[in-house]
Parts: sequence; structure tokens; C-alpha cells
Amino acid sequence: MLRFLGVSTLLVLSMTAASAQTDYLARARALHKQALLIDGHNDYPWALREKDPARDLNTLDIAKPQPSIMTDIARLKSGGVGGQFWSVYVPVTLQGQSAVTATLEQIDIVHRMVRKYPETLELALTAADIERVHKSGKIASLVGMEGGHSIDNSLANLRMFYKLGARYMTITHSTNTPWADASTDTPKAGGLSPFGEEVIKEMNWLGMLVDLSHVAPETMEDALRVTQAPVIFSHSVARALNDHPRNVPDNVLKMLPKNGGVIMVTFVPGFLSPKVNAWNKLQTAEQDRLKGLTPNDAAAIKAGVDKWSAANPVPAATIADVADHVDHIRKVAGIDAIGIGSDFDGISQTVKDLDNVSTYPLLTAELLRRGYTDADLRKILGLNVLRAMRGAEAVSARLQKERGPSVAVIGAAASGTGSGADRLLDAIAASDVAAVRALLAAGADAKAADDDRVTLVMRAAEIGHAETVRLLLTAGADPAARDRHGRNAADRARDGLASGAPRDFALILRLLTDE
Ligand SMILES: [Zn+2]
Repeated sequence: MLRFLGVSTLLVLSMTAASAQTDYLARARALHKQALLIDGHNDYPWALREKDPARDLNTLDIAKPQPSIMTDIARLKSGGVGGQFWSVYVPVTLQGQSAVTATLEQIDIVHRMVRKYPETLELALTAADIERVHKSGKIASLVGMEGGHSIDNSLANLRMFYKLGARYMTITHSTNTPWADASTDTPKAGGLSPFGEEVIKEMNWLGMLVDLSHVAPETMEDALRVTQAPVIFSHSVARALNDHPRNVPDNVLKMLPKNGGVIMVTFVPGFLSPKVNAWNKLQTAEQDRLKGLTPNDAAAIKAGVDKWSAANPVPAATIADVADHVDHIRKVAGIDAIGIGSDFDGISQTVKDLDNVSTYPLLTAELLRRGYTDADLRKILGLNVLRAMRGAEAVSARLQKERGPSVAVIGAAASGTGSGADRLLDAIAASDVAAVRALLAAGADAKAADDDRVTLVMRAAEIGHAETVRLLLTAGADPAARDRHGRNAADRARDGLASGAPRDFALILRLLTDE
């Protein structure tokens, strides 16, 4: 702020507040005309899939105005977007091969987008591509994978996704992978498992950015210890300003300057504002209370939540809140660690006025008002993430001279000792699909039970991992077997369902019974 006083002080004081505000916006718009804005996260591909399971681009044709969503070409242009990481998110309810297939389908959407809109979009695979495409007046389109479940524990899948254009992978989404802890799940691996470290190393080898949004703080720290390349947070903000598990703690932000990494500031109200965060928790509590009253009446629950929300209006998150996070990150990690990752079309709430892809200049204007220079803003808008991408490309070029692709497989470290059934139990406990598959293929007994007659499929059912249940059933496990207390696998899935944990219990019940 201080440096901004001086030459312009008299000028600013001589204007009315309103005209000063207009002036900042005019300056912001002028800056956006030249500066490269690269947004880290836009969920248009998922919005399309939700609207149309066939994913026909004509359903939400972005060449025309699309007021029902946050993204279309006219608004991308007026927002000054020069590079966009299109998220190829798939939810964690999809696991195993279903997650791989859905991710391929989402990547296919991005490839079809650049084919359908060749005057506006062009696929970008490198930092140089982004600059070249932007100079030609088009929007550089990149693929960002959201969630390590997309690779189904396979480095081969990871490498093939890179070949299809994926240039970052978020290490987890909302639940743990067998090899990395998520911020919104119960910690299991304590950060990254040994295979999780292999994933990070292979991403460095490929030149795919490691994205640490969504992961647990321990996973952030492990990844920053293991990676040789700069990391990104494709859509995150600072925990010090709002104690939400999705936010990044200061001790991790402090690790960014040495790593060269970038936190791309997101526009998610519940992450930005403690008031909205608190309101969301109250709304969830009300929803849980209503579910307890009428568990099977979705309409009544929705009506009750709507009534509560009308009586308790949601507080507004503002552009000033976003700028406060930018200020804080600058203070802790420096100007070179800041980027933009809106999460447009991936959010159900929006920041006031910052609610679609045309609105970035409003944030730029607020930052100009706070004394950020044009050079600072060029870094925030795009140059920092471009630098991180170049860093990842350089590390990849060096590593590929040193070694070939990794042949590591998950669970390999655990093999070699113990009986087949013990190792199978370990793999089930870790929800390690590849290891379960490998052990069953090697002849481990799917019907094994312990002294209390608790079977492996009961264990898999109580953990709530549908794919391991399915594999055990395919290998001959008895779905109806009962333990010493007369309880079967379905009873355990029902317990899980009642607990409300975000696992596959409903799907497991369908696999085990006719329910
Ligand atoms: Zn996300």
C-alpha cells in the first residue's frame, strides 16, 4: 500500500470514490487486454456431463450465451482468459476401472471442444504452447485431472493420461486414495505411502504438475519433500484466514518459495469466508436433522432445507475476501507464489459479483486499488504458473535422460512375506484394488475367514470399498456367510450406510443382496 502513495496520491484524492473505482476497473480492463490470464480450474466438462449424460457439446454450446452456467466463449473473452485448465474431474463414487473410463470420457470432451471451436480454443501441452496460442488471440486449452483415483493405482494409466494431454493431476479428491490422504477424509497413509511417492516421482518424470489442492496437510508436506519440480494448488486459499480443511496452512505456504510452486486462488465462498463456512456447517446440520426425521423422504428434506435457508440467508463472500487471501499468501509465500484458479462451474455458491468467467477484471481492479503493480498482477494472472510449468518441463527433460519410466506397482513392497490370506487382508484394508486383483490372480483364497468366522468380504464390506467386494465375489467369496455372531457382509454394509460415511455402502448392498 505504502509504495502506492506518492505521485498518484493527489490525483486519487481529487477524484470522487466512485470515479476512482471506475478508474481502477478501466486500468484492470486495459491490463487484461495484454496480460496472459491462466485459470487453474474450470469444471465446464463436468457441468456438461451433469446436464447431458451423452455429453453433446450442442447441449451447452459455448459459442452461444449460456446463462445457466458460468462459462461461454463471449464471457471467457470479456474476462480476458488466455489459458484455461479444463478440469476432467470425476467423482470418488467412481472407483477402479469406472473412474478410468469416466476420466477418458471427460478428456474426450476437451479434445472435442478444441475441434468444435477452432477459432477460439487450441490445445496446449507446454508453457510455450500457452504463450503461442495466447499471442494468436486464442484461448490455450489444457487438461487438468482432479483426483488420483482417476489412474486406478497404475503408473501406466498416469503415463497414458499424460499422452492424452493431462498436464496436472490433483493427488486426491474428497476421499483418500490407497496411496495418499485427502484433507476431507480420515487419515490413513499419514500423507503419501511409498507408492504415493512413486506417483509424485513419475509425475516429475513426465512433466505433469503435482496439484496439492484437496490433499491432507501431511500429503502436501510429503509431496513437497519428494518432488523435484514446482507444485501447484489448482484451486485453494489460505487456512490462516478460514479454518476449512480444504485450505492451505501457513507452514506449507512457507515451503512454496523454495519449491517454486504456486497456489491458484479459488473463488469458493465456503473456503474464502469464515462466515460462509460457518453457515454451510449449520445448513448441513439442519439437513442431517431432517434426514433423521424422515430418512426416506428426499422431497421433505429438500423442502425443509429450503425453508431453513430462506429463514437464515447465506452471508455474502466478497471480492475483498478473495483479495484478503491474496494479501495473506503474498505476506507468507511472496508474490511469485500466487495464481488464479476460479473453480467456475464446479461451485454451487459464488462470490458476490465474481460469479462467471467474465468477472476476473473486478478482482484485478480490487488488487490495483490495494497497491499491486501491473508487474505484480501479470505474475498473479499467469506468469507464475507459466514459470512453474516451465520448471516441471525442465525437470522432466533432465529425469528422462537419467532413467526410463517406472515399473513400480502398488502393493509390491508388501508382498514376499505372510500367507496369501494375510496379504489379501492387508490389501483389502488398504482398499488397494490392484494388489487384491494380483493376489487373487496368484491364487490367494477369497473365502478365507478368521477364528471368529469373519470373512474377507465382510472386511471389504465394512470398509465400504465396492471394487474389492466385487473382486472377492467374482473369485468365489460367499456373500451370505455369517460370522460367530450370525452377522453377514450385508449387515456390515447397512451399518456403514447408517454411519453416513462417504463410501460405497449402497453399491455394496446391491452387490451382496437384491436391495
Ligand atoms: Zn475441487
